[in-house]
Amino acid sequence: MHSSTSEPGVAGQRGEGGGPEGTGGAGGAGETGGAQGAQRARLLTGDTPTHTGLHLGHYVGSLENRVRLQDQYECYFLIANVHALTTLAERPEQVRDNTLGIVKDWIAVGMDPERSVFVLQSEVPAIAELTFLLAMLLPFNKVMRNPTLKTELETKGLGESYSFGFPMYTVGQCADILSFRPELVPVGQDQEAHIEMCRDAAMKFNQLYCAVGNRVPPEGHAAAGGVFPVPRAQVGRVGRLKGLDGQQKMSKSLGNAVYLYDEPRAVAKKISGIVTGRASMTSPIAQDHVLLQYIDAFIGGERAAEIRAQYASGREVKDGLIKAELAEAISRLLGPMRARREELEAPPQPGRQGGQERVLGVIRAGIARANAAAEQTLLLAKRAMRLDFGARRLGF
Ligand code: ATP
Ligand code: MG
Repeated sequence: MHSSTSEPGVAGQRGEGGGPEGTGGAGGAGETGGAQGAQRARLLTGDTPTHTGLHLGHYVGSLENRVRLQDQYECYFLIANVHALTTLAERPEQVRDNTLGIVKDWIAVGMDPERSVFVLQSEVPAIAELTFLLAMLLPFNKVMRNPTLKTELETKGLGESYSFGFPMYTVGQCADILSFRPELVPVGQDQEAHIEMCRDAAMKFNQLYCAVGNRVPPEGHAAAGGVFPVPRAQVGRVGRLKGLDGQQKMSKSLGNAVYLYDEPRAVAKKISGIVTGRASMTSPIAQDHVLLQYIDAFIGGERAAEIRAQYASGREVKDGLIKAELAEAISRLLGPMRARREELEAPPQPGRQGGQERVLGVIRAGIARANAAAEQTLLLAKRAMRLDFGARRLGF
């Protein structure tokens, strides 16, 4: 088991970092996310603020798991606002607005800033430092061959003009995760290659600097003295929800998404625009067609099976009616989220904080708690790497 995170002189060394909330619980190998107590294993995941809100793909791929696991794990939810600059460096205002929008969606969906820690990447300097340290361990060519990175370069149309920071973000994501030493990372399927890279980085670090033997299995690294538990990806009930175009994954950057804040009319319009490509009303539809994927995901159960059977039967099926039923099911799911998000957009009233202030308050409280945890990790990592020469104090 690696050193305890409650070592004296570790937390709050920057003078700012130590929040009162205490982030004990090192996430060691023996912890399995037991319900209560200080020793809950940790979980980390997050989103990039490349749009004003989150979509249905996020919901089925990751958000549902986050909400469900909040009591079981000590959760850290990260907004990768620095990484949003990989595509939005020229629009900092937009990244700021998007950041607020994503926090609103998080709260709207049931992620709880009291029980969990909301981490704003740009305000946690230990993450940037760990990025630099991990960059020394990851082979450049391997990073560049990362399939998620390659797909993103293609689908986001970045051509040859992407910034140095673009491939760098994959290393940064390892640091986002490892800074909080989680055991579990709930993500969509597209992120699996990134998590694999993060596991490699954690294992290499533990082997090089913490004397963890090459034969120790990933799940035994923390118990064998590694600073980093080797985190596992947990993919949601739909690992890759297709976009409305039926081809790419649903994505904030591709204009093919149903957003959690979409009103019923917008949802109906988007769903009705899905192309089934059937020659006639009796033609079948491909088993993996996006419409059927949505029907399984948002109607589900016997009714979804019935619709699939109808399409396969060769009898007449009216796409319009099916789409209307689907749109209604989606809007029913989104209704309570929209209502909560609207509350967070309300202007201030006499004696009542406006939504914007509330969201900023949540972000600021999260910054303090996140820094306390990440500084602890950084100090442990620097000690292991013989880079520490006494705790620093960055007071201003
Ligand atoms: P961008 O287009 O900017 O990359 P995105 O829509 O891919 O945005 P991210 O912020 O990159 O969203 O992803 C946040 C989380 O949601 C990740 O865990 C990712 O795997 C998951 N996710 C994103 N899109 C989907 C999807 N279509 N299906 C399932 N999970 C998804
Ligand atoms: Mg993405």
